This record gives sequence, C-alpha cells and structure tokens, in this order.
Amino acid sequence: MKLVVRVKLLPTPVQAAALEATLHACNQAATWAAGVAFEENARRPLELRKHAYAEVRVRWGLGAQAAQHAIKKSCDAYTTLKANLRNGRYGRPGTKRHARASGKPVVFRPEAAQPYDDRMLSWQHQARTVSIWTTAGRLKGVRFTGQAEQVEVLAAHRQGESDLVCQGGKWFLIATCEIPEGDLNTHPDGFLGVDLGIVNIAATSDGARHCGRRINRKREQDRKLRSKLQKKNTKSAKRRAKKYAGKEARRAKDINHKISKRIVAEAERTGRGIALETLTGIRERARLRKPQRTTLHSWPFAQLGSFIAYKAKRAGVPVVYVDPAYTSQECSKCHHIARGNRPAQAVFSCRVCGFVEHADHNASHNIAHRGWYVWVCGAQSTAPGLTLIA
Ligand SMILES: [Zn+2]
Repeated sequence: MKLVVRVKLLPTPVQAAALEATLHACNQAATWAAGVAFEENARRPLELRKHAYAEVRVRWGLGAQAAQHAIKKSCDAYTTLKANLRNGRYGRPGTKRHARASGKPVVFRPEAAQPYDDRMLSWQHQARTVSIWTTAGRLKGVRFTGQAEQVEVLAAHRQGESDLVCQGGKWFLIATCEIPEGDLNTHPDGFLGVDLGIVNIAATSDGARHCGRRINRKREQDRKLRSKLQKKNTKSAKRRAKKYAGKEARRAKDINHKISKRIVAEAERTGRGIALETLTGIRERARLRKPQRTTLHSWPFAQLGSFIAYKAKRAGVPVVYVDPAYTSQECSKCHHIARGNRPAQAVFSCRVCGFVEHADHNASHNIAHRGWYVWVCGAQSTAPGLTLIA
C-alpha cells in the first residue's frame, strides 16, 4: 500500500534562500524545456534531453539529476495535458478552450513541486535532518519535523522520489512510503459500525463516542471567530482568518488520527471488521438548523474515513462501506423505520417495540448490521490506493 507523508522542513534563513533559488531555477528550466518540447515536438524524455539537457545544466546551474528531473517534469506535464484533453477536461476539439489549452507550451509556477531522488536527497532519521541538493551546493543538516507516527512510517518505509514544495512561505518534503499490508482477516467476527455525525464525530456500535461536547464547543468558537473575521474584510483580518483555518485543519487532522487509531485498534483486538457509511449522503442527510450545518461542513469526515481505511488495511482489518440511508431512523432491534423514532437529536425511541438508546449508537448498530450483509454478499470495498497522512 502506498502512503504519502508530508514533513515540514525547518531551514535556517540562509538554507531557505538556497531552497527558494533552487526551486525557482528548476521551474524556470522546466518551463524553458517545455517550450523547447512544444517547438520541437519532442515530448518524450529521451528526445527532449537531446534538445534541452546541455542548456538546462549550464544556464540554470542544475546538476545532472536535477536537469533530468526538470526535463522529465516537462514531459510528464504534457502527458497529463494530453490525457486531460482526451478526457474532455478542456471541452471538445475545435472549441476556444480546447485550442487555448493545447495551443501553447506548458508553464510551471516558480513554486511548483520539484522531484528529488535518492542521489539529490538523503534522510538522517535519527537526527531528523536531510541533506539536500541546491544550486548553491549541498545543504547538510536541514532539520525537519512531523507527527511522531508519520516520522516513524517515513523512517521505516520511505521509497523512491520525494517532492520539494513551498506552501505559504513554508517548506515541505512529500515522501512516498510503501507500507506492507497486514494479512487480511478473512473471517471477521462481526463488524464494528461507525456512525459519523454532528454531535459525536464518530460513534461506534460498542458504545464508544469520540469527541463530543468539548470539541464541538471549540468548533463553534472557531466558526464564530472566522465569520467575524470574514465580515471585517481587512488585510490583517484575512491573514488571521487564514491562520485560524490552518490551525483548525491541523487540530482536526490530529483528532482524526486519534479517533481512527482507536477504532482500528478496537476492531483488530476483537477480530472484527469495520463498517463505514459511504460519505456521499452525509451532508444531504443531515437536516439541521443553520449554525450546526456549518459545523458539520467544517469537519473533514472524508479524511477520517480515509485514515480509518488505511490504518485498517495496515492491520489487516476488513473495511466495508454501507449505504447510510435511514440508519438514524431505523430501530436496530426490530428494524422499524420511522422519522418519529427520533423524538430528539440525541434520543432514539422505537415507536413499535419501545427500544430506547442514544441515537448515534442505534445508528452505528444499523451500520454494523448492514456491514455484515455487505461482507456476506462479497461486495467488500477496498481502501483508496493513495492517502495523504501528514
Ligand atoms: Zn423497534
């Protein structure tokens, strides 16, 4: 299983200047090479190298590896463009949009990602530093940081190329890791149902509720603060709003990592699979007052789902996806479905058999049931191939 791990670099000002000069040089070179590729109609690396390699090395001071990567990047961009044109992303041939996309050479942003291979970049995991090639020579001892779990994954499983990127003035390396998958538990002892919701981010059919009131209160505060800043519409307010959005996203990711870890560990410990709801319905399903709607939209449920999926895959825990329609209105004992079964947001009370439970738990039981059917029918889904975990 392929995983993508992002770590943040902590360069000194001098190192940061060298990285910036390097990224700009690589992208200028790639843009120039893309122009040559366009003119000479040489869009394969081997061919383009003949036309562009020497000049890229001399004019932008790129090393042999960097020059090859710049040229390959240009070729890859044309391959992507060609695929997009074919798929109709730019309209039909003959239209203005299509002509504009196909009628000029590819251009790279000065900050576009640059691939680094093992000869241009080496990792010292113990010291948490990298040694990285720049146009100003090799930088040694550039510090990096990341969440403990991701740094561990990186040290154990990194493979192949990494991308150097600059986002919002900060430097990152995006590395690909090849993670061995656990032996899939082909005879799960039932399923752990996970209900994703507003009041509780995730409730499981075991009765565990993850992150209820405290986080919701914080989410509510964040929402108010952000809307206040947005109304202000000054430069500094915008800057602050952006900063808060980044902070909130990081906190949410951290919480998603923790919740997913606990859910997968619980399923693994008890020899069960995990049943998740397909996420397409979650927004339409929730009939809520306006403030709650915003809170719901701001929680990255898709991210939580993908974290659960990859952690499960690593542990060999099967994951199935179920249709969540009416899981909140269905009685998990007698399966009677009625809107009247939900007298309040948090309460489930069956009109027919009188079964009473916390609404989220009742829903998660239904998801667990449905998960079992999906499994038995052999329609188990697989986790997405590539997940960004940092
Ligand atoms: Zn009932």
